[in-house]
Amino acid sequence: MKSKKMKDKKQNILIIGAGLCGSLLALRLGQRGYNVTVMEKRPDMRKVDISAGRSINLAFSDRGIKAINLVGILDKVMPLCIPMNGRMLHDLEGNTILAPYSGRTHEYINSISRGDLNILLLNEAEKHKNVNIHFNKKCISVDFENTTALFKDYESNSEFVEDADAIFATDGAGSAMRKSYYLGKKFLFSYSQEWLSHGYKELSILPAENGGYKTYKNALHIWGREAFMLIALPNLDGSFTVTLFLSYDEGDYNFNNLTTKEKVLEFFGKYFKDALELMPNLADDFFENPTSPLGTVKCSPWHYKGNTLLMGDAAHAIVPFYGQGMNASFEDVVVFDKVLDKDLDNWEAVFKTYQAERKKDTDAIADLAIDNFHEMKGHVNHANFREKRNLEMAFEKAFPDEYSSKYSLVTFNEDIGYQEAMLRGRAQDKAILNMLADGHIATPLNLSDASWLKTTLKQVQQETNSILEEDRIAKNV
Ligand SMILES: Cc1cc2nc3c(=O)[nH]c(=O)nc-3n(C[C@H](O)[C@H](O)[C@H](O)COP(=O)(O)OP(=O)(O)OC[C@H]3O[C@@H](n4cnc5c(N)ncnc54)[C@H](O)[C@@H]3O)c2cc1C
Repeated sequence: MKSKKMKDKKQNILIIGAGLCGSLLALRLGQRGYNVTVMEKRPDMRKVDISAGRSINLAFSDRGIKAINLVGILDKVMPLCIPMNGRMLHDLEGNTILAPYSGRTHEYINSISRGDLNILLLNEAEKHKNVNIHFNKKCISVDFENTTALFKDYESNSEFVEDADAIFATDGAGSAMRKSYYLGKKFLFSYSQEWLSHGYKELSILPAENGGYKTYKNALHIWGREAFMLIALPNLDGSFTVTLFLSYDEGDYNFNNLTTKEKVLEFFGKYFKDALELMPNLADDFFENPTSPLGTVKCSPWHYKGNTLLMGDAAHAIVPFYGQGMNASFEDVVVFDKVLDKDLDNWEAVFKTYQAERKKDTDAIADLAIDNFHEMKGHVNHANFREKRNLEMAFEKAFPDEYSSKYSLVTFNEDIGYQEAMLRGRAQDKAILNMLADGHIATPLNLSDASWLKTTLKQVQQETNSILEEDRIAKNV
């Protein structure tokens, strides 16, 4: 007999996918006392040496930290982290500038191994007797009317049906349950998937012979070249995971025409010379590692009645340029947990309330992530962008309680939603760039003059508020 009373802790929850979001959700629901079964299609990464999937390491920041704090394991996660205090910008000649992420020195992002974090979450979830995780079980489809899911067991090569009181799909960007919603045509399900013209390929900078780092450790390295870019994040073993973002078919060099070792070396020699010097293994990596596409998925509703709910990338996959996909998926669990605290009567009310609170924010981070693609590959190198960042750093340093840049609002202000961060952040950017362009903020900036800085801050705040007000009037909200 299925129970729709979500306050009844004895009922059975099925989670599809034990990636980052699914294992955190299993841990949290386990802590809350539910009977949780998790089905994961891959083998157990603690027993079999498998790549954790896309992107070996990730930028982990305050929204993710808040979620990890909620489940009480921050002390176990922090040793896995390498602080990255800013962007290390590499120009064509190999000159570098470290551009801090914030004027407040306690605000930085972290590089963390996807595999290590996932393993920790699996271990913590399994400490709860009421959480059971099964591997090599691939979800084929979900019968959302009857709250059952069909699985293929890769060990026995057989199929089986799993019954539950509520099903949560955290099976990533290619979600099987989302496919069932779409193909089922039983309710009005809106769905969009937009691909970028650029794909990505992972490469590496290996550790130095003494086991140290071959380049500066505590930064996210960026080689932005307008039409394409290379980034690198540090790993605990002294290596860096390097990612090339490049068009599939545009420009002189693209994934479709980089087909020989000579051409790859020519491309890197021309555009990423200082990186190439650190990557004697480049050609091997380039031809061994896959090229993968990047896309944004938006859909609605995320739930079907009180039976099923999409979470994490399954509900809202985004491009990786704000370093927020995992952080947002973790934040889903925080928002969901808060809704559970409301003690609503049934899962349908919980799922509805959750989507009403959450969707505007995941839509916002999806759009911000695409903006940041353009910012990282090009704008970071432009003079007016750098002036804006210098001014914002000075504001944050001198008036830490009065100003946060768009990047800070998104990344370090976990108590405001992504939508609010986007609206305020975009208005601030527009205000400063306009004021720089029409000379209301004179250059060179007078950053060492405290009273100039204060007056300029007030002007920027005024201009920002009037832009926000105009936006409100235009949208009639
Ligand atoms: C190149 C790249 C770089 C990124 N960098 C960052 C970053 O720096 N910071 C950040 O916050 N985010 C980053 N992200 C985003 C981040 O990887 C995702 O947002 C995050 O992994 C989402 O977690 P998830 O658990 O929802 O999905 P996933 O991590 O994809 O997990 C889904 C799980 O479900 C399993 N599964 C899939 N299908 C099935 C099925 N049919 N049946 C059963 N199990 C199934 C999978 O095996 C997997 O274990 C990056 C993404 C990419 C592609």
